[in-house]
Amino acid sequence: MRQTSIKSYCILVSSQPKYYWKMVQNKNEDCFIELFSLLCDQRKPVKGRISQRSKVFPNVPAAPGMPCTGEDRSIYRRGARRWRKLYRVNGHIFQAKRFNRRAFCAYCQDRIWGLGRQGFKCIQCKLLVHKKCHKLVQKPCSNEHVDPIEVKDDANGESTLGRAASVRSRAEPEPPLPETPPAPVAAPVRNEDLEPGSQRQYSLEDFELIRVIGRGSYAKVLMVELKRTKRVYAMKVIKKALVTDDEDIDWVQTEKHVFETASNHPFLVGLHSCFQTPSRLFFVIEFVRGGDLMFHMQRQRRLPEEHARFYAAEISLALHFLHERGVIYRDLKLDNVLLDHEGHIKLTDYGMCKEGVRPGDTTSTFCGTPNYIAPEILRGEEYGFSVDWWALGVLTYEMLAGRSPFDISHAADNPDQNTEDYLFQVILEKTIRIPRSLSVKAASVLKGFLNKSPSERLGCGEGGFLDIVSHPFFKSIEWEMLEQKQVVPPFKPRLEGERDLANFPPEFTDEPVHLTPDNDTEIADIDQSEFEGFEYVNPLLMSLEDCV
Ligand code: ADP
Ligand code: MG
Repeated sequence: MRQTSIKSYCILVSSQPKYYWKMVQNKNEDCFIELFSLLCDQRKPVKGRISQRSKVFPNVPAAPGMPCTGEDRSIYRRGARRWRKLYRVNGHIFQAKRFNRRAFCAYCQDRIWGLGRQGFKCIQCKLLVHKKCHKLVQKPCSNEHVDPIEVKDDANGESTLGRAASVRSRAEPEPPLPETPPAPVAAPVRNEDLEPGSQRQYSLEDFELIRVIGRGSYAKVLMVELKRTKRVYAMKVIKKALVTDDEDIDWVQTEKHVFETASNHPFLVGLHSCFQTPSRLFFVIEFVRGGDLMFHMQRQRRLPEEHARFYAAEISLALHFLHERGVIYRDLKLDNVLLDHEGHIKLTDYGMCKEGVRPGDTTSTFCGTPNYIAPEILRGEEYGFSVDWWALGVLTYEMLAGRSPFDISHAADNPDQNTEDYLFQVILEKTIRIPRSLSVKAASVLKGFLNKSPSERLGCGEGGFLDIVSHPFFKSIEWEMLEQKQVVPPFKPRLEGERDLANFPPEFTDEPVHLTPDNDTEIADIDQSEFEGFEYVNPLLMSLEDCV
């Protein structure tokens, strides 16, 4: 088993065809963090998909896996990642869980209840305990020896973990204490059954699916038309099967809440409605016609400072709005910044957000998209809003330089350097070189955001957001006018009509638009009670619709 160290606390454990596992020793907590499930085939930014971006590379590589002529590997769509924490006691591997069914603690026998992730569940033997009791559990894990999950200490005292591709396929032992049977599939509320005046619910039948316009780490995004009004929306579709554990359910709820909050800001994508089928979750959201910054950067290579300044300023306002409402965005990257038909930015994708963060609060989840992850996250430290200003530094660098500040594409052919561990090491240790072609002010703002120490980073000191507003790089920005969309954007996406898809990559728009029929065995594995209450209709957008 290959092990690569990133400093002493981060070890690469194994690669599986479908899943890629990693554990990172967390310095602050008695636990380790597992990098999981990220690279399910369909979510992976696979090579085939990259080379299909025919407008960018109108040629084929000399050999499979080789770059195309003129191909710059430094700016690609890269999947967002989520790590989860596992706590190891007496052979058990505990994971924090949210229990919405009756569950009892195997240690103190009391009920596990309350909001949030109240209890711990062993991912091997399914033992349930209170968070507060988990360290006291004497009983060793019952199926550690038969389980395909293998945990042992290596010579350095660091834990190693390997896992067979499918955990589900093994015979699962009975849980030690009873849980009530799963709730039946939530029956959708039919509009005929609604009280007069109450909001109508939506379903897939209300929409015509027009084209696939994007894919991310978790979702497929379609352009759709609401048949009743003929209005166009984007529809973010997430397979429930991907939302496999309770931590994931939390991100679905968070994404929904933040979409609701976002509906009040000009630079954030707002929500129209949510609904579900037995296999999928649907977010109907504003359709943003100009495509994402990844698409534009891949065509323009690098942007003039004036353009980068405008985007960075609008993104700063969007981030500040989220921060003021207690939300850390945590996944700022080129693919999540969209341009509207006039050229203003809109952030989308709130699946990585952390809600409920008050000033001075911190959190510790290891997540994000590797190239944009702040050093404090990699160091296993508690962190706050600072990680978003770091990511803005990475993104602004990419806009100005046309490559990542942590570009390791030169190392593509060296197996030791072509790893995520190497990337993390570069982020943690390498001094960032600013291209000499950039102005002094641009270099200064980049150095400000890309300060490896969060307390010294631009936007994170005493002055907070005001330090960004008053930075010389942003001197020409009229912030109030900007927030009211009164500043004319430097670039207007080319669009012929409301439904023009010229700004979306053909690799997506050429895909067949249909959703694959539900698979009964997959659905049988889904606990539908987890998705109860997902349905939502935005009252504001509804009243707008009625005006049509
Ligand atoms: P994921 O959570 O899987 O990363 P995203 O929400 O980021 O999914 O969507 C994937 C891609 O779809 C984005 O990178 C973007 O190109 C496109 N996209 C997402 N939302 C919209 C939208 N509202 N309008 C237009 N395109 C969108
Ligand atoms: Mg995304």
